[in-house]
Amino acid sequence: MNIILLGPPGSGKSTQARMIADKYRVKNVSTGDILREEVRNGTPLGKESKKYMDEGKLVPDTVLIDVIKDRLTEPDVKNGWMLDGYPRTIPQAEAIEKIMAALGQKLNVVLNIDVPDSELVERLSGRRMCKCRESYHIQFNPPKEAGECDACHGYLYQRDDDKPKAIKKRLETYHNQTQPLIDYYSKKSLLINIKGSGDIKKIFAEISKVLDKFRIT
Ligand code: AMP
Repeated sequence: MNIILLGPPGSGKSTQARMIADKYRVKNVSTGDILREEVRNGTPLGKESKKYMDEGKLVPDTVLIDVIKDRLTEPDVKNGWMLDGYPRTIPQAEAIEKIMAALGQKLNVVLNIDVPDSELVERLSGRRMCKCRESYHIQFNPPKEAGECDACHGYLYQRDDDKPKAIKKRLETYHNQTQPLIDYYSKKSLLINIKGSGDIKKIFAEISKVLDKFRIT
C-alpha cells in the first residue's frame, strides 16, 4: 500500500504517520526528518536546506525530487510506503508520478488532515521535540519531567521553525504552495479528507476506517 499524507504544519501528520506505519506495515518516509538528519550531520544537502527550513520556506523542488527519488529506490520501501511532508508543490507531485511509473508502483490514497489555522499556531508554538522523534506539547501533551523525553530521556528542544516568525511563514507557504495539491488529488479521485482536531486516537480510528479498505488480508 502506498499512501501520501497531506496537511498543514502542526496538523499531527507525523504522529498519525507513525501509527499508520505500525499498523499497516508501510515504511514511513518523512522528508522533514530526512532533511533534519542531513542538517545534524552537516552534509552539503543539510547546509543548503537549513537556511530555507529555519525561515519556514520550502527547500527547492529540484533538491526534494532527488531526495525522494533516492529514498524510494531503497529496498526497505519496496513493500509499501507512506510519505509525510512530500509532495508540497505541484511539480513535486508530478515528479513522484514519474518516479512511481519508473518503479512500477501506484498510489492508493491521499489522506488530507484538516485543522484550522488558529489551532495550528497554538500547537506549533508549544511543540517540543526529541531526537528520537517523540514529540510533546508543553500544555496539551507534556512530558513527565519538564524538558525530558519520556521514551529515551533525551533533551527536548524547540525546532527553530516552530518559533513565531517561521510559523507565520510556514502557514503562508502551505496555503500558497501546498494547498493546491488538495484540488490536484481530488480531481484524480485519490483524496480523502480527515478532520484533524480532537483526540489523536479518534483521528487514527477515522484514518483506519479508510485504510482498512485498501489492506490486503
Ligand atoms: P516538516 O518536518 O515536514 O514540517 O518539514 C520541515 C521543513 O523541511 C519544511 O518547512 C521545509 O523547509 C523542509 N521540507 C520538508 N519537506 C519538504 C518538501 N517536500 N519540499 C520542500 N521543503 C520541504
